[in-house]
Amino acid sequence: MKAEADPNVIVYFNGQYMPLKDANVSILTHALHYGTGVFEGIRANWDEESKELFVLRPLEHYQRWKLNCGILRIDVPRTAEELCAITQELIRRNDFHSNLYVRPLAYKCAERIGVATDDRDAFAIVAIPFGEYLHAEEGIHAGVSPWRRIDDNAIPARGKICGAYVNSALASDEARRCGFDEAILLNESGHVAEGATCNLFMVRKGKLITPAVTDNVLEGITRDSVMELARRELGLDIVERTIDRSELYICDELFLTGTAVGIAPVVRVDHRPVKDAALGPITRRLAHLYCEAARGRLPVYRRWLQPVYRTAAAAQSMAVEKSVA
Ligand code: PMP
Repeated sequence: MKAEADPNVIVYFNGQYMPLKDANVSILTHALHYGTGVFEGIRANWDEESKELFVLRPLEHYQRWKLNCGILRIDVPRTAEELCAITQELIRRNDFHSNLYVRPLAYKCAERIGVATDDRDAFAIVAIPFGEYLHAEEGIHAGVSPWRRIDDNAIPARGKICGAYVNSALASDEARRCGFDEAILLNESGHVAEGATCNLFMVRKGKLITPAVTDNVLEGITRDSVMELARRELGLDIVERTIDRSELYICDELFLTGTAVGIAPVVRVDHRPVKDAALGPITRRLAHLYCEAARGRLPVYRRWLQPVYRTAAAAQSMAVEKSVA
């Protein structure tokens, strides 16, 4: 889905809350020319039952953001906790009561020609209503991309670095033009890395397998959540290892994970069915658990959530869960 923002939506820019239409940068901004920015993507999920909006793992996202900004020597002069508080205030000011996507962006803001960077940095946070990214309940058709995943020694894929997303955009565009829903990228060694905007998991012989973080992938937070759910709730063995392209064609289940996509089952890959081209049992259970956890319905995973409004209903259900626990 493409989310276009209302120009009057309130954003956080240069240390202030202001309408999006007033939050502008110069066309000479360093990051605009050279891709020298680092962004994040965070979900907030509306739960109709408790009338509460839950931001999903904001602390981990902001911690990752600050670390990745360090790769480009961009300083975000706020702690991860302060950034969580800014996000909560931003959502409240907009009075949002629906699913959201929060997009923090830090960038080199010098207004001049020349690729060398200096210490002028800025950051902004935008929150916009956002529905489903891929319509994936029944599973998607993914294609292995002719584009290779960028290498750590070129632009670190783990970094959510703006310029690196040219790689994702090329692969994504190509995949959609070829009739696929999503691209799967191989790394320079020819092994499976990840989707254009998501991590990849496959199930083989009852084991959940995903490429290691050293295989030129983003260190996904959904990846981490899924690994915890799989281990703790389903008792699965998780293996982080190199995946061959041809394993995609013979595995039992395949799915993609990410903040935007959630858990997207892949039922066809390169015009071949994954198993019998239907949703696999492990994928189905993980998708259900993830959805429940992200809406505050599983007490153990409440620690992943930051409630925005702290509604009476949400507080009550949390109190009941505490007394039961
Ligand atoms: N890989 C890439 C290239 C991505 O852009 C994303 C989305 N942020 C992911 C993986 C998934 O990461 P996360 O679960 O933290 O959203």
